[in-house]
Amino acid sequence: MTFNHVVQFLQTLAPLANLSPAEVTLLETPNHVHKAELHLNGKKYPAFRIQFNNARGPYKGGIRFHPEVNEDEVKSLAFWMTLKTAVADIPFGGGKGGVTIDPKSLSGKELEELSRAYVRAFRPYLGSSIDIPAPDVYTTGQIMAWMLDEYEQQAGHHDPGMITGKPLELGGSLVRDIATALGGVFVLEEAVQKLKFKGKRIAIQGFGNAGMNAAKLFADRGFTIVAVSDSKGGIYAQQGLPVDEVVTIKEKTGSVQNYPPGQKISNEELLTLNCDILIPSALSGVITEKNAHQVKAKIILELANGPTTPEADKILHQNKTLVLPDILANAGGVTVSYFEWVQNQSGYYWKEEEVRARLREKMKAAFNQLWSTWAGKKYDFRTATYIHAIQKVLAAEKLRGRV
Ligand code: NAD
Repeated sequence: MTFNHVVQFLQTLAPLANLSPAEVTLLETPNHVHKAELHLNGKKYPAFRIQFNNARGPYKGGIRFHPEVNEDEVKSLAFWMTLKTAVADIPFGGGKGGVTIDPKSLSGKELEELSRAYVRAFRPYLGSSIDIPAPDVYTTGQIMAWMLDEYEQQAGHHDPGMITGKPLELGGSLVRDIATALGGVFVLEEAVQKLKFKGKRIAIQGFGNAGMNAAKLFADRGFTIVAVSDSKGGIYAQQGLPVDEVVTIKEKTGSVQNYPPGQKISNEELLTLNCDILIPSALSGVITEKNAHQVKAKIILELANGPTTPEADKILHQNKTLVLPDILANAGGVTVSYFEWVQNQSGYYWKEEEVRARLREKMKAAFNQLWSTWAGKKYDFRTATYIHAIQKVLAAEKLRGRV
């Protein structure tokens, strides 16, 4: 999604949320756009840290290393982080970072040098009470460890809360690895209860961190996973797939399609399968005006960022399909990042059960708050979620006297 889309989106929302022109301007203006050129092996790579809004707390958002990273994209992602932390009701603002580089072309040593160079470039703007990065596309726990080390060497003191998604040995949190999927499970459980929804048949697009963990967690809770897919395609079994076996096949062969008893299907077919719940967990923009009419699921849990286009949203709303939007459905990841930061700030680390229980409480509360806000409204649940997030950011801005 380009930043133009963000601007259009705010203009569409303005009348529904009663936003003044000054409020719209504030919402579409990032606080700081930091740019640098990182030098590696005689070449220069553009790098960004965009701090969108910090009215509710320090900036928060991942760093991606990808050849297509650009300022416009980082700005859009930083905007969405501002809304996501508001929906999750955690005391952070929104930010995002990135480097325009193909990290797969780098050796381990080069990747370490790039990670350290990123921190050196943006160090004055980072810190546990300023701006707290995390992993994103092609950045890992190891990269967070190098970044922490560089920051602490430069600062001359420990500050583990300056970055999240760290390995456990350096102050990471238990449950962070499955947090996005587990948060989605808690949101869906609440929605199912509210709707008195009996359907148990789930189709999942994408079988990485979000999709695979969702498949395992839902199967453990008695749901039937009828289809899963990855970049090579999908598999379907009417009676349900044995998730553990599919995970083993994926790990051994690289694709879920190599699970022999599964009926092979395409990623497009998966989206319109006969199922009750659809969980897009891979790419953005996959549910469009072309296929939304054929979607049979009555609930869509958006673990991926931006999988549904605005045109498709309208069709799904008309067809009474409830879309649990990305900034709520996949907020489990940033919520456990917040827990990691809390543990770092206090120097006291929680047991796994405690992290899970707190995540459940947070996700349930976020869903229920939105559900009651939405009651009786003519617009869809996504719109209610966005309006709620924007109002929270604006309330903080007003109290600070900034608008
Ligand atoms: P991942 O890299 O671990 O997995 C991505 C999966 O998508 C892989 O199974 C891959 O094979 C599959 N895939 C790639 N191209 C595909 C295609 N054309 N069709 C179908 N499947 C395809 O990534 P992830 O961390 O699981 O992230 C998935 C989505 O969830 C992204 O949209 C991401 O932004 C979002 N998300 C993830 C997290 C998190 O904590 N991991 C948090 C918030 C949002």
